[in-house]
Amino acid sequence: PTQKIAFIGLGIMGSPMAVHLANAGYAVTGFDLSPRGVQPLVEAGGQAASSAAEAVADADVVCVMVPDSPDVKAVLTSDGGVFASAKPGALIIDFSSIRPDITAELARQAVDLGFRYLDAPVSGGEAGAKNAALSIMVGGSGEDFETAKPIFDVVGKTIVHVGPNGSGQTVKAANQLIVAANIQALAEAVVFLEAYGVDTKAALEVLGGGLAGSKVLDQKKENMLSRSFEPGFRIELHHKDMGIVTSAAREAGVAVPLGSLVAQLVGSARAVGDGGLDHSALLRGVERLSGL
Ligand code: NAD
Repeated sequence: PTQKIAFIGLGIMGSPMAVHLANAGYAVTGFDLSPRGVQPLVEAGGQAASSAAEAVADADVVCVMVPDSPDVKAVLTSDGGVFASAKPGALIIDFSSIRPDITAELARQAVDLGFRYLDAPVSGGEAGAKNAALSIMVGGSGEDFETAKPIFDVVGKTIVHVGPNGSGQTVKAANQLIVAANIQALAEAVVFLEAYGVDTKAALEVLGGGLAGSKVLDQKKENMLSRSFEPGFRIELHHKDMGIVTSAAREAGVAVPLGSLVAQLVGSARAVGDGGLDHSALLRGVERLSGL
């Protein structure tokens, strides 16, 4: 491939994604506020930049993978940010999970400035990023989607254009509602089974083969059984996402009663100091409520 890619935000997700792009032959220049993130990219033949401006100066495509809406805003609109420093016509792909309304506004600004913009949040977790098996939900124009498709194919498996700018983020908000409710249900089942002294590993094996089976069960059961909550996906990021889905639902006038309940439980986990743990640590909240 001949496109030059800048990759901003090389954390749990961005780092393996940038490495896959470098391994696929793209010239990738990475930047992260924390220098540790860039090392795997450099080992895969990519370049390290010392600022976002330096990373994007020569790029045809600018990928962003940072935590939250204010972070994306800072990356794009600050002095020395992408809008100030990227080449005219560059395609900005925001892989982060942020607010749909802010996305639509940033996309409008980008297009006014002569850039192209796709929101392309992902699902599949750290495993999905490492195995290049992400689901990617893309908002933006069909033409920009086609331009970006070869890049998406390098990091993802299920790649769907879902509508105009902001739609990708709306779909991701729905994704996070489903995932959080699933994790909470699984955590409750584990604590329930243990209370009866059932062989929980065997129980989860048989549950996984029936209608209760899910990717959440497959990917999160080990964390729960062994009480090891290294992230993965941090509670504090899921707290951000539950805020996005509950406020967007309120805005639309639709009810998300289960989402609101799980949002409270995720918020509580964060409030007691579990924000840095994997979201499978919702199990600890069930234990607390059970006096365990
Ligand atoms: P992370 O905290 O591991 O990585 C984010 C990185 O962005 C950090 O290395 C941070 O230093 C960097 N960063 C923040 N602001 C920056 C800036 N202004 N300039 C340059 N770098 C900056 O988070 P993550 O788990 O990789 O998640 C990133 C996004 O992907 C979030 O929106 C999250 O909700 C979403 N997501 C995460 C997962 C997962 O399983 N971890 C799965 C799907 C989607």
